[in-house]
Amino acid sequence: MSESPSRVAIVTGAGRGIGAAIANRLAADGFAVGLLDLDEASCARGAEAITADGGRALGIGVDVSDTEQVEAAVTRVAEELGPPTVLLNNAGITRDNLLFKMTDQDWDSVLGVHLRGSFLMSRAVQKYMTEQGWGRIVNLSSTSALGNRGQANYSTAKAGMQGLTKTLAIELGKFGVTVNAIAPGFIATEMTAATAERIGMSFEDMQQAAAQEIPVRRVGQPEDIANMAAFFVSDQASFVSGQVIYVAGGPKA
Ligand code: NAP
Repeated sequence: MSESPSRVAIVTGAGRGIGAAIANRLAADGFAVGLLDLDEASCARGAEAITADGGRALGIGVDVSDTEQVEAAVTRVAEELGPPTVLLNNAGITRDNLLFKMTDQDWDSVLGVHLRGSFLMSRAVQKYMTEQGWGRIVNLSSTSALGNRGQANYSTAKAGMQGLTKTLAIELGKFGVTVNAIAPGFIATEMTAATAERIGMSFEDMQQAAAQEIPVRRVGQPEDIANMAAFFVSDQASFVSGQVIYVAGGPKA
């Protein structure tokens, strides 16, 4: 059980994959959870499942790169669940291509969701955190922040998430707010399944090949990331801020 059952968390991109696992884990730990996702139906289903298990949750369809939608969604969470003091900036997309084939739209949409989205969400939620004198922001980076062929847009966004993390940690620390980043390696979700499909490989073969390159000899599951997130948002993590933890089955950085 959580040490703080009344706290309210917002998870973006909570309709599936890593975001859904984090939302479920935080609900199990006693947080009320606002599940935000582009796909309203999937986050509504996630919220219903949490509520059916005795938790408190709300699913809201929102594009995190849109200022007005973000402000409206955060206000709704505050009104219906209470002041949000935990934020997981998890929503993400890939638009992979080698530089010479990457379009303006590929670049802008990836930076828009990851970086602009995390900026807008953090700015909207920080006022509740600073008012409460307690808060936790966790940003999803990636091992791709270290560079990855075909991902100039995505690796730039994920490296940017680390800069955002460190700067917000410096600005918000005096208000009792910590800001950390999780940089996952290969996690089995629809995002990695889509990559397998794009390169013409079965998802099973891709996971087996990836596992051979990972020191612990398996790919990650969404729950591996949720476990790390659960620690970062806990009271026990109050002296950990501005950090990037690679959750990748080995030392990626
Ligand atoms: P996923 O299965 O593709 O889920 C991403 C979720 O984000 C989807 O539900 C998607 O909604 C939502 N989303 C996309 N754009 C959005 C927007 N503008 N506003 C709100 N929600 C939006 O991906 P995942 O694998 O769980 O990844 C979660 C996070 O971890 C991402 O930031 C990703 O970059 C990061 N990550 C993943 C891996 C990995 O191996 N899987 C590794 C490193 C980092 P729709 O369903 O409507 O598209």
